[in-house]
Amino acid sequence: MTMALLLLTAQVSVPYWTGEHPKAQLAEWAMEHWARGSEGLIQVRKVAREQDAEIRFRFMEPARRGLYGQNLTHELNGRVVNEVVINPAMSRREPDALLAEVILFLTCVHESGHALGPEHTRNFADIMYSFQYGGDLASYFERYRQRLKSAADMKSVSPLSANDVKQIKAWALRRQRNESRSGESAPSPPR
Ligand SMILES: [Zn+2]
Repeated sequence: MTMALLLLTAQVSVPYWTGEHPKAQLAEWAMEHWARGSEGLIQVRKVAREQDAEIRFRFMEPARRGLYGQNLTHELNGRVVNEVVINPAMSRREPDALLAEVILFLTCVHESGHALGPEHTRNFADIMYSFQYGGDLASYFERYRQRLKSAADMKSVSPLSANDVKQIKAWALRRQRNESRSGESAPSPPR
């Protein structure tokens, strides 16, 4: 019982890097919301060196113009690395300064969700909703904006729906199982 409990509560640790972009704070808050949503199953760790990170945020225009953001997963030296590209240009035309921040922030939350594991849904209430099912992009951003008094509130007001929380917890448990399994079967390192 105690052992099982220990295994279940072993945290998944996810190192991420945001760079020094003026909007990097939004990426940090996004990661913290996913960690909080996982109810302790995931711990996120901001690292100073890009090469130590599993998730790397880049604030730049993606190759495909007009995208809010994208997550590109690839393998680098035997490790899975996620490049989360956030397009600052998508909020530049927005005259409402708070809404402009919300656009970048929710893009960070959605794309880092992809980097962590949650998948697209058909449920408009979810941050992982996919606009390929239609839906009103303006109200996706606006509904969150209306819950804020200032941009600083984005740190504490969760953008995750109950279903997003369910997804991140399920992902964390799957990854815990994979990590403990590979830990068990890993050969001892040569000395
Ligand atoms: Zn997506």
